[in-house]
Amino acid sequence: MKRNTWQREAVREALDGTDGFISAQALHSSLHATGSPIGLATVYRALGDLATSGEADSLQSPDGEALYRACSTTGHHHHLICRNCGRTVEIEADEVEAWAHRVAGEHGFTRAAHVVDVFGLCADCTVLLANDTR
Ligand SMILES: [Zn+2]
Ligand SMILES: [Zn+2]
Ligand SMILES: [Zn+2]
Repeated sequence: MKRNTWQREAVREALDGTDGFISAQALHSSLHATGSPIGLATVYRALGDLATSGEADSLQSPDGEALYRACSTTGHHHHLICRNCGRTVEIEADEVEAWAHRVAGEHGFTRAAHVVDVFGLCADCTVLLANDTR
């Protein structure tokens, strides 16, 4: 079923123009700022569609919010995400792959998959927040 095609394209373009991971709400606000009449529910749905089809990565922030990003890397990878500014670095984690495979095997699990994303403060934000004297 081809529903909401232009909305989906608008959401995809907005996501492409965003550097780090972004919430549906924040993406909706930035679309609105450019004059788009798209609704929040539609943004949620389009992001869900893009994540399902593998065109966007999704992950859960530490406070439980769903975040999305159009990743430059396809296939399995991990992220380092700055919890202050949202800057995202795509990383490979060979040790994690080996470890996940091994512990799954030790417990008799097959077809194991995992999601590992590391949240922290990027170098810039570390300096910025260290100088924050509030
Ligand atoms: Zn990614
Ligand atoms: Zn940062
Ligand atoms: Zn992995």
